[in-house]
Amino acid sequence: MDDYDPDSLPADVAIAKIQAAIKPVIGFETLALRSALGRILYMDIESSINVPGYTNSAMDGYALSGQALPSDGEKPFRVVGASWAGRPCLQAPADNECVRIMTGAVMPPCTDTVIMQEHVKLTGDTAFINSGHKTGQNVRRAGEDVTAGQTVLHAGVRVTPAVIGLLASLGIGEVKVRRKLRVAFFSTGDELRSLGEPLEAGQIYDSNRYTLFGMLTRLGIEIIDMGVVRDTREDVVRAFNDAADCADVITTTGGVSVGEADFVKETLEKIGKVGFWKVAMKPGRPLAFGSVKNAWFFGLPGNPVSAMVTFYIFVQPALRLLSGEQPSKAIQLTATCRSALHKSPGRVEYQRGVYQSDGRGFYEVRKTGAQGSGILSSMAEANCLIVLPLECSGVKEGETVSIMPLECII
Ligand code: AMP
Ligand code: MG
Repeated sequence: MDDYDPDSLPADVAIAKIQAAIKPVIGFETLALRSALGRILYMDIESSINVPGYTNSAMDGYALSGQALPSDGEKPFRVVGASWAGRPCLQAPADNECVRIMTGAVMPPCTDTVIMQEHVKLTGDTAFINSGHKTGQNVRRAGEDVTAGQTVLHAGVRVTPAVIGLLASLGIGEVKVRRKLRVAFFSTGDELRSLGEPLEAGQIYDSNRYTLFGMLTRLGIEIIDMGVVRDTREDVVRAFNDAADCADVITTTGGVSVGEADFVKETLEKIGKVGFWKVAMKPGRPLAFGSVKNAWFFGLPGNPVSAMVTFYIFVQPALRLLSGEQPSKAIQLTATCRSALHKSPGRVEYQRGVYQSDGRGFYEVRKTGAQGSGILSSMAEANCLIVLPLECSGVKEGETVSIMPLECII
């Protein structure tokens, strides 16, 4: 019965509610190409040029007209010139002539075919070419990668190394990207100490602000670290107001359940709007979603693993949408479970696992040890979350499970 709470929202309903509520932030900035790495394109990108810009050779070899190729036997061709990448040959070879050509060089006039040099016998300035070659072979046509006027990238695409390269190949040195999302975050808890401070009895180091720093920074977000906020009504209210004045999104950890010192939900009710505050999942039942002034609000649980898992499942997809990124579904893979997993039905559970290839083209996964929601060491060892659906009542060794690879999350 511990696992059942009639007021909790199913996890997929909670995700749908968040996605239905939010819209990308307005605003863009224009950046030099390299600075745009990891950012989100603000508009579609059209090419003003063909890539490649001219028809050229895909091989080192000999260029000729396909019509001159022998239909059987071997035919001699006199080599009448050479075309280098960046130094074209302007001479059109006659029917019994060819032009030496290097990879990337412009095709000489009246040629459409390249014979690889490995397939040619060269004696003096005569190239002997066999039958069996095809007209048009080993040639890269102008515009075969991109044609002028074509939309090559859409708004909402994250700028990856390949995207930067594609933009450079189009001669585009500056791009418009969405402005960075601003996320303010703070930890709540009288027991929390910052790094460098000595720990007294009953005190712990604040680790949530470090995991949040990591998860937010990897998303390319402008972070506003507001430190630790004490468990008093006044301190929590002040922190909410300060955060809402400077950020698009507020993320807190701790103080969101129903203990005597939990002021997060109460404050959200008082000065903001509550969308929901409990989700049927483990780890992480208390999870407040709502808004404060113009900022979206996510109140994550205090337990370190619950804070991370709820961030990955709910907050990260929301931040990506708010950042203007095209929506995409989290990647789930199927793996054979090499550990027995305990679970009661009634809520979705995310257990920490390590997955690897089984050497036969499939994946296998084992759990990383104790699954308590405060046990960060088993999270640090994990490279995936094992997703156990609502109705699942445990997994036997050898059964198939769904996993969400953590490094694919972004
Ligand atoms: P709470 O949700 O505030 O009741 O916290 C639940 C548990 O998480 C308690 O054991 C807290 O000490 C712990 N906790 C809360 N915030 C943090 C934090 N920032 N870093 C590490 N542990 C935390
Ligand atoms: Mg607390």
